[in-house]
Amino acid sequence: MADRDGLIWYDGKMVPWRDATTHVLTHTLHYGMGVFEGVRAYKTAEGPAIFRLQDHTDRLFRSAHILGMKLPYTKAQLNQAQLDAIKLNGLESGYIRPMAFYGAEAMGISARTLSTHVIVAAWPWGAYLGAEALEKGIRVKTSSFTRHHVNITMCKAKANGNYMNSILANREAEQDGYDEALLLDVDGFVAEGSGENIFIVRKGKLYTPDLTSALEGITRDTIVQLAGELGIEVVEKRITRDEVYTADEAFFTGTAAEVTPIRELDNRMIGEGVRGPVTTRLQQLYFDCVTGKSEQHRDWLTFVK
Ligand code: PMP
Repeated sequence: MADRDGLIWYDGKMVPWRDATTHVLTHTLHYGMGVFEGVRAYKTAEGPAIFRLQDHTDRLFRSAHILGMKLPYTKAQLNQAQLDAIKLNGLESGYIRPMAFYGAEAMGISARTLSTHVIVAAWPWGAYLGAEALEKGIRVKTSSFTRHHVNITMCKAKANGNYMNSILANREAEQDGYDEALLLDVDGFVAEGSGENIFIVRKGKLYTPDLTSALEGITRDTIVQLAGELGIEVVEKRITRDEVYTADEAFFTGTAAEVTPIRELDNRMIGEGVRGPVTTRLQQLYFDCVTGKSEQHRDWLTFVK
């Protein structure tokens, strides 16, 4: 990743990719206190467009607020930085990673004297779980790692340190031969994937866990809106793992994972073990929206000019 051509927005300036470095005593590197976003730009007939840019920037600021981190830039500046990261790297589509982190002025837990830095990088990134996953679905394992308790780390913050839990769960699932992990909350109910929200379909209705222990996913919100417009009822409720086993369909949502069908959980086939009809419809609609093919929700796109 570090050794490539291109430009990264770093504290207000575009710097050559290889020079976008930071000191080994950077506070966030040691303790994980930082916030980030994962955003996608898609190729459209009118050039690249960033999907729900303002919503991602708003979440970055909410994450910083939760952690008590003051961001030294405005939302407008960071929106522009994301647009510039796509444009100046000549990308038709790509993944955008804004991140805010503490500097290297001091070690120790107190963050009182630290400066806050912000970077925005962008690079091409295809289907997160593989192109085949979007069509055929993935095999998922319930993790032995519990999702964060709401009072241990803050689940509504997309915080760097929270992802240690995600990596532990994802690594365990991959090592055991699965594609992704499903994490349960402290009470044993379904929370989310390592980097995705989850939906199940039963008798034509969509169910998704409430957001107590899960990130407020922007793709989740997109799917809830699109389903509503199709007349599909969406119910937010506590979900058990055996409800997933017996669902007609299940899928993950995320900016990186997009809409990825789940064909198996814990070696139990879900439904027919293929991408189901409701998942297919929502996935198609999602891709039509993000690529500007749908006339609906054009306001979700910010064109890179
Ligand atoms: N949960 C977690 C833990 C995530 O990391 C992500 C990815 N940001 C999501 C859910 C999905 O969020 P979004 O749809 O906004 O990308």
